[in-house]
Amino acid sequence: MQGVAQRHDVLIVGAGHGGAQTAIALRQRKFADSIGLLGEELDPPYERPPLSKDYLAGERPFERILLRAEAFWGERDISLGLGKTVVAVNPANRTVTTASGEVIGYGALVWAAGGRPRALSCSGAHLRGVHTIRSRADVDRLREELPAADCIAVVGGGYIGLEAAATLRKLGKRVTVVEALDRVLARVTAEPLSRFYEAEHRAQGVDILLGAKIDCIEGEHGRASGLRIAGADFLAADLVIVGIGIVPACEPLLRAGASGENGVAVDEYGRTSLPDVYAVGDCALQPNPYAEGAVVRLESVQNASDMAITVAKAIMGELEPNRAVPWFWSDQYDLRLQTVGLVLRCDDWVVRGEMASRSFSIVYRRKGRVAALDCVNAPKDFIQGRTLVQKGIAAELGALADTSIPLKNLPAASST
Ligand SMILES: Cc1cc2nc3c(=O)[nH]c(=O)nc-3n(C[C@H](O)[C@H](O)[C@H](O)COP(=O)(O)OP(=O)(O)OC[C@H]3O[C@@H](n4cnc5c(N)ncnc54)[C@H](O)[C@@H]3O)c2cc1C
Repeated sequence: MQGVAQRHDVLIVGAGHGGAQTAIALRQRKFADSIGLLGEELDPPYERPPLSKDYLAGERPFERILLRAEAFWGERDISLGLGKTVVAVNPANRTVTTASGEVIGYGALVWAAGGRPRALSCSGAHLRGVHTIRSRADVDRLREELPAADCIAVVGGGYIGLEAAATLRKLGKRVTVVEALDRVLARVTAEPLSRFYEAEHRAQGVDILLGAKIDCIEGEHGRASGLRIAGADFLAADLVIVGIGIVPACEPLLRAGASGENGVAVDEYGRTSLPDVYAVGDCALQPNPYAEGAVVRLESVQNASDMAITVAKAIMGELEPNRAVPWFWSDQYDLRLQTVGLVLRCDDWVVRGEMASRSFSIVYRRKGRVAALDCVNAPKDFIQGRTLVQKGIAAELGALADTSIPLKNLPAASST
């Protein structure tokens, strides 16, 4: 085809968790044709979770967060094209175009472009000293400015904001978390867990402002100096970190006609509405059996990896629906939170164990069946609860709360 610089039998756009795992899964299944893995970032695929944890803390060098050693990609004959942003998709010609005008052909296209940090819409959002945490480059920029910073405002009390707050406290910074809703983690968990994390952060010296509406970020000489918050005192800050979620990075695909809104819609095999075009990871909307079939967009390493495996299989003609149980983790201070299942559409929940012991779980039910767990320093509950979620086991709240009954014994306990 005229003007096409190169062509790959499978072309993957986005060299993050989902894109890398798609390429790996294809080769593991002996896919013998050509694979191209294009990424906007300059780095080979790396783990994103450490960016708000030990990489931000400076405790883990970049080489130790690489998903695979650099030589891996060449050895597996996976053609890595870094620093390439795909700006257009042409499904009729089966090509993509990069920002530099390169046209690359595909047999099958896998869109794995993740998301971009959502920006604050108020004035001052683009001043120097305002940071996000999505890529290695973001964190390197932030780390460069950390030595000169004392007070840091973290906008957003979701997982990334809270993890960053915990890391920065460890580094001795004065941290204020500014959250628009009336509790942290409000979108993802039940109130007791929100209050537990709020108390933990406060005990560690983090200030938390709830129900806080930011009017603007003020600056001096082009640099952020603090936050103006409705009805509150000016919050001075040397640095502002904005962690208010992502916008799925899928505009070129939607412009090319793929279905979706706030993400690319895929079926249970990861297929978009365009022929031979798939999507995985943070940018993809998929019906989820653990949310009664509701279409959801999950943001987790597990989801990106499992969707990638499903898509690799589909490309190789092995249509197997994605039925992976969703799970996620978050590390803050000495607390490891592990969640399994989806809280969406749950009807009730119960706390299992003593929250004061800092080792407990919250078990959620949907129509009387175990649908999700948030386990704090409770790995046994996480492992055993996973089976309950997978099987949709019906259980009484009283039995779920009773720590003398291991969760693995619950099916029997509940039926007696
Ligand atoms: C700070 C942080 C902490 C996290 N912690 C956890 C955790 O503890 N546990 C957990 O389960 N999950 C965690 N996550 C979420 C997890 O990292 C994501 O869910 C996962 O990375 C999603 O994989 P992905 O492949 O969809 O997207 P990404 O890994 O983001 O990869 C997408 C890639 O595509 C590139 N790209 C975007 N647009 C284009 C384009 N047009 N052309 C070419 N390339 C493009 C991007 O630059 C990026 O490199 C965390 C995320 C962050 C940011």
